Amino acid sequence: MTRRTAIDEQDPGAGERVALLEFTHSQLQDWVLSQGQPRYRSDQLYSWLYGSLAPDFEGMRNLPQSMRQRLGEMADIQRLAPLQDVLSSDGLTRKTLFALSDGETIESVLMRYEERNTVCLSTQVGCSLGCTFCATGHSGFTRNLSAGEILEQTLYFARELREEGHRITNVVFMGMGEPLMNYEATWQAIETLTDSRGFNLGARRITISTVGIIPGIERLSGEKLQVGLAVSLHAPDDELRKTLAPITRRYPVKKLIAACRTYFERKGRRVTFEYALVDRLNDSLQQAAQLAILLEGLLCHVNLIPLNPVPGSPWRGSSRERVRGFHRKLNRLGVNSTIRLRRGTEIEAGCGQLRSRWPGRQGAQNCLSS
Ligand code: SAH
Ligand code: SF4
Repeated sequence: MTRRTAIDEQDPGAGERVALLEFTHSQLQDWVLSQGQPRYRSDQLYSWLYGSLAPDFEGMRNLPQSMRQRLGEMADIQRLAPLQDVLSSDGLTRKTLFALSDGETIESVLMRYEERNTVCLSTQVGCSLGCTFCATGHSGFTRNLSAGEILEQTLYFARELREEGHRITNVVFMGMGEPLMNYEATWQAIETLTDSRGFNLGARRITISTVGIIPGIERLSGEKLQVGLAVSLHAPDDELRKTLAPITRRYPVKKLIAACRTYFERKGRRVTFEYALVDRLNDSLQQAAQLAILLEGLLCHVNLIPLNPVPGSPWRGSSRERVRGFHRKLNRLGVNSTIRLRRGTEIEAGCGQLRSRWPGRQGAQNCLSS
């Protein structure tokens, strides 16, 4: 059986263009060779794409003019079209709505801190997992993003930052979709982002957030790169968690925590748990104590986030008082936890409204201020 490669898949018919960001390093090499160019040209091209963040072929000065022209005729670097940008009033958070080449839309966010610039990436158009408190979940699933579509979100913000002399320091997969339900493309994007011949981001600066897809977590445990793992837990027991995250029926809480323990043992990286506090649903002191028992002995950190209300959902975020009470209880029981605010909630686009306001589209974006 012959294996189909990215080159076969991208074998452009008449008039079709090749999306260069879809190639891994070695696939790019094969493609450049197939175009009759020497191998070192692919290294140069790769370095332009991910090291120099070239938006087009014009400026690739060490490539011969004839090659640049040919590339311009047959290949694309940029396929995402920014439709709308929303900036928070403090100017620190920028949310961008992109159109994909098939007209679907996704959101990505850039969060600036004093010493960090974090991008929050989407991995799917919509999500199939239907968490009841999540606007992306409400919108249903349309399709997976490709590796190139994931990468391009990053490059877009990296170019913007570079103009100001800055760079992306952290990447979080906390945008639309479930990264572990789109493992291949997500992992290819991560391998490209961490490649020292190009973008050269440390794997430890990348965090994958998952609702708890156990086979995906197990697969991550076996990878060489030490990416961070965040698990969106939100409840200490199956019964309650099922009402928030229906996937709990397939992947129950205790098994999920066991997979997290293995992740820690294999990777030596502390796992983060996201816990969105819903008023009088999962925010009692008793539930905090239950959570502490569940996580006992696991080196981890819990991020407490008051739920962001989503239209059509009956739930509200917990009051400050209840958030503080939960936080104190956890810390007293020896579980490290921090109260987080969701960045960008005030730019209306806070939780997917940007996408849902775009004619005919629904969506969500949930990026933590960490
Ligand atoms: N599918 C992955 C990653 C995308 S969601 C996951 O579920 O982890 C990113 C984060 O936003 C998750 O922690 C998710 O639970 C959280 N989230 C979604 N809707 C939210 C809301 N309305 N309020 C607070 N957090 C929310
Ligand atoms: Fe999907 Fe994550 Fe939203 Fe759940 S919280 S519906 S897994 S994007």
